[in-house]
Amino acid sequence: MFCVKSHHFLEWTIDKLYSRGYDRVTLTERKEEFSMAKVNVDWNNLGFAYQPISQRYVANFKDGKWGEGHLTDDANVTINECAGILQYCQEVFEGLKAYKTKDGRVVTFRPDMNAKRMIDSAKRLEMPPVSEEMFLEAVDQVVAANKDWIPPFESGGALYLRPYLFATGPVIGVKPSDEYQFRLFGTPVGSYFKNGVKPITICVSDYDRAAPHGTGNIKAGLNYAMSLYPYILAHQKGFDENMYLDAATRTYVEETGGANFLFVTKDGKLVTPKSDSILPSITRRSLVTIAEHLGYTVEHRPVKFTELKDFAEAGLCGTAAVICPVGKVVGNGETIEFPSGMKEMGPVLTKLYNTLRGIQLGTVEAPEEGWIREIK
Ligand SMILES: *Cc1c(COP(=O)(O)O)cnc(C)c1O
Repeated sequence: MFCVKSHHFLEWTIDKLYSRGYDRVTLTERKEEFSMAKVNVDWNNLGFAYQPISQRYVANFKDGKWGEGHLTDDANVTINECAGILQYCQEVFEGLKAYKTKDGRVVTFRPDMNAKRMIDSAKRLEMPPVSEEMFLEAVDQVVAANKDWIPPFESGGALYLRPYLFATGPVIGVKPSDEYQFRLFGTPVGSYFKNGVKPITICVSDYDRAAPHGTGNIKAGLNYAMSLYPYILAHQKGFDENMYLDAATRTYVEETGGANFLFVTKDGKLVTPKSDSILPSITRRSLVTIAEHLGYTVEHRPVKFTELKDFAEAGLCGTAAVICPVGKVVGNGETIEFPSGMKEMGPVLTKLYNTLRGIQLGTVEAPEEGWIREIK
């Protein structure tokens, strides 16, 4: 049995039911009953949308130091109107998942890598980094407190975790804030491929994602704010995603708004684009290690747009999908159709995908120690 301890969550549920025509008085009278209800989620029809769950982690930075972190059932943040996040966008974030393995354990995949990357991101935006220890503590506490919200193994879903750090102290002159908050919440998400694996079509964006020597290599909300306009444009034109080229010469492939590229050559080598303005994806780095272990040759190097027509397979990689196959790229006056086609993921990427998913779900052994962090 799961007990909904959160008053806010209960009110939220009641509001939702009320908006669907249920009678509020009856609903409020039945609060006790609801509060003892099991988590009511249709695991097989979960998409990727926020839904508040029982507990989240909060810690505050004040007077030059981080205070004790703790769990709270309050899903809302109250901050000053002049907070640094609201005025000058001082915010960095991470994304990772907690899974239920086949044998019933609860695990996260390489959360130490997310902790380290958030330290790098924070430093670039003049924010006090959250120590790796506090980050992992937050992951462990939130996952342990919300076990009923982790989708079952069979559903292919996961508990998506969103750690983030933002400036809460007021700033009007441009400078780093004096006060910050670190939060980590979870939300259950469905299998990325619940309607089957379908290769996507990508267009080359007329806009740039990241400048040389800019902030493309850190995970910050500001990189996403400016990608929304080209993202909507791409959708209006019937494409699934944008391919961004290097801003300086517009001849090299960088990444999409939120995932790195993987390519496979006709002789079976894995190629991943290299650039200082690409976000270092943990999924990509893990897939590279796996590929090397499986005996593939891996090249991490600048990739020219003109090379695309020579590749056999293409894909995007990131926490959300692990690998999403790309069937077609349109741009620079050409349409490139990869030989792997629009029906399925190519054989090399499928092999890498199955191996990484197997590691995450506990059916395949990881190539290195520490990839799987079990949460009791
Ligand atoms: C988060 C992110 C990725 C994927 O990184 P993972 O660690 O694999 O989830 C790729 N590109 C951008 C711009 C991102 O923000």
